[in-house]
Amino acid sequence: MIEVQSLSRYYGVHRAVDDVSFTVGEHAVVGFLGLNGAGKTTTLKVIAGLLAASSGTVRIDGVDMATAPVSFRKSIGFLPETPPLYTEMTVSEFLRYVGRLRGMTVAATEARIPEVIAKAHLQGQENRVIDELSHGFRKRVGIAQVIIHKPRLVILDEPISGLDPKQIVEMREVVKGLAAESTVLVSSHILSEVQHTCSRVLVLHDGKLVADGSPDALSSRLGAATSIQITVSGSPEQVQTLLSAQPAVQRFTLGRSPHGHVTAAIELEGDARESLVAAIVGAGLGLRRLDDARDELEEIFMGLTKGGEA
Ligand code: ATP
Repeated sequence: MIEVQSLSRYYGVHRAVDDVSFTVGEHAVVGFLGLNGAGKTTTLKVIAGLLAASSGTVRIDGVDMATAPVSFRKSIGFLPETPPLYTEMTVSEFLRYVGRLRGMTVAATEARIPEVIAKAHLQGQENRVIDELSHGFRKRVGIAQVIIHKPRLVILDEPISGLDPKQIVEMREVVKGLAAESTVLVSSHILSEVQHTCSRVLVLHDGKLVADGSPDALSSRLGAATSIQITVSGSPEQVQTLLSAQPAVQRFTLGRSPHGHVTAAIELEGDARESLVAAIVGAGLGLRRLDDARDELEEIFMGLTKGGEA
């Protein structure tokens, strides 16, 4: 359904998206994962026809978005991170207004409103003024308005940002449910989010596509290495000798903690933390701390970019 071929997008001289290619089939829920500034929003806006590509092509159902008529672009639903809402309207009034704005007849809009209320899990909120809704409900009103005209492609930019844990769970269900009617692209900087909602994850880093696969495949690829930081009382020479003798230690860098202890940032092959701790204790060194060295997403990018091409 979506074919992206060698897509690049510059802002002035800054290359926000760098030679990205992928295809997406019908009714998939695909996650775009990346740190802030990775190029997710830019990529999604080009796909939605809201931004022009600097080079490369985006085709949706074979139609080139660079030359697609406005009517075709309207068949795509794009929800920005902050949903555009008329907050003085009630939920129903707003959906009625958006339906008409999208060229639907009064009858078609009225028939569709109960469907989108159900799809966005907004039952019971129809007559409430949007201004008085919680952040989570407002985000879901954003989703309801973006699907009112049954777009074949729905693009959601960071739909879970700013939501509390209960709202996040609800939003996951809403997003998954959209796939019955549409192909869904969703961006996030949180790995667990895309793991919960998406059948496929595309990882962007510095504008480049560094991985493309199922969440499970991504996790198992990353399972190959563990990054930890230890703090030990002992001499740097002792720590150096010990770590050099451990087969599971791929590489390490020594340092000093503010309290004068020796620190080591270590890349382990597999999760060999227990055997490493046993070796440290067995050598008579005092283990003060053992921490995961990087947060999950950072670890992914380190793992993925280290090996070069995805
Ligand atoms: P975020 O989650 O922070 O929105 P993102 O992955 O969606 O990040 P983009 O918003 O696509 O990333 O931004 C990619 C790069 O392009 C960033 O370096 C950003 O600063 C830059 N950028 C985005 N929009 C503009 C703009 N209108 N003008 C200039 N630079 C921009």
